[in-house]
Amino acid sequence: MNLQKLVRKNIREMKPYSSARNEFKGEASVYLDANENPLNSPYNRYPDPLQMKLKEKIAGQKGVDPSRIFLGNGSDEPIDLVFRVFCEPGVDNVVAIDPTYGMYKVCADINNVEYRKVLLNKDYTLDSSHLLDAVDENTKLIFLCSPNNPSGNLLDKDEVRKIITTFNGIVVLDEAYIDFAVNESWLPELDKYLNLIVLQTFSKAWGLAAIRLGMAFASPEIISFFNKVKYPYNINQLTQEYVLNELDRQETKNEWVDYIIQQRDFLEKELADIELVEQIIPSDANFILIKVSDPVEIYNYLVQNGIIVRNRHLISLCEGCLRITIGTKEENEKLIAALRSK
Ligand SMILES: *Cc1c(COP(=O)(O)O)cnc(C)c1O
Repeated sequence: MNLQKLVRKNIREMKPYSSARNEFKGEASVYLDANENPLNSPYNRYPDPLQMKLKEKIAGQKGVDPSRIFLGNGSDEPIDLVFRVFCEPGVDNVVAIDPTYGMYKVCADINNVEYRKVLLNKDYTLDSSHLLDAVDENTKLIFLCSPNNPSGNLLDKDEVRKIITTFNGIVVLDEAYIDFAVNESWLPELDKYLNLIVLQTFSKAWGLAAIRLGMAFASPEIISFFNKVKYPYNINQLTQEYVLNELDRQETKNEWVDYIIQQRDFLEKELADIELVEQIIPSDANFILIKVSDPVEIYNYLVQNGIIVRNRHLISLCEGCLRITIGTKEENEKLIAALRSK
């Protein structure tokens, strides 16, 4: 794979914006270079455009070099950036598993890039050869999501590996739910595969959806193209400081994950006992996909009881399906009680 050739010509050849913080990086006592207000310290100053302190801490915890980390305004930012860096609008295409997370297609549409959906097997497992059949010479990206949303299952590692090693473009592997899965992340194998981008987020296991921080892990070469295209100050100072502190709470995060997995087991067991539930898809994530007799009626019934789940019955392979996020013990018990008395 030749990365330079995969990148859009205009992106390869452009000169990126150079901010005041880029041009002078040392320590000084008087900063008169960025047209900031000298008053209202500390939030009068622009934040570090490359978030080095935060990246170094994440790097230490994840065992990944800081040069292999990109931080974005949620995972949504790197999802959009892969299109802007690699896909020529109206010419290139991307291939993705179906069903999966809706943002990949939205970003493809915004960027005017053809989005080719390839159905998973009926049990939501991945057939790599099926996916690779959809690839042609203009395919720049393949999107995989493991554990997948909305099905909740991990994708088979050997099938994923076949895709990474066979495809001559970039594989984006979204691991937003990896903390809830037993099978380990692809991060330890990052160095081996120059075409692999792994996405993770602070929005799920870390309980920080509100502060908007997503991570992309890839080769330093790919990361430098993301840095070239991103907004100069894409992560604000409040988020950088907040997460720097939150990273000291790994143990608390792990306790939350254990609790959610315990509640997931509870819900799976209880749901299996309820007549209107026809099927429960085994989950490696913090939600469960269930198949019910009448999804619209049951969705509306739950709404009337103040309980909101996600209606997925119009999504490919999800006929009759509702997606239920794992809540607290009390919330899950309310859901079960409501379903029992339907
Ligand atoms: C929730 C979710 C994310 C997280 O997106 P953020 O922008 O980081 O909040 C990413 N990918 C998938 C598949 C998700 O379900």
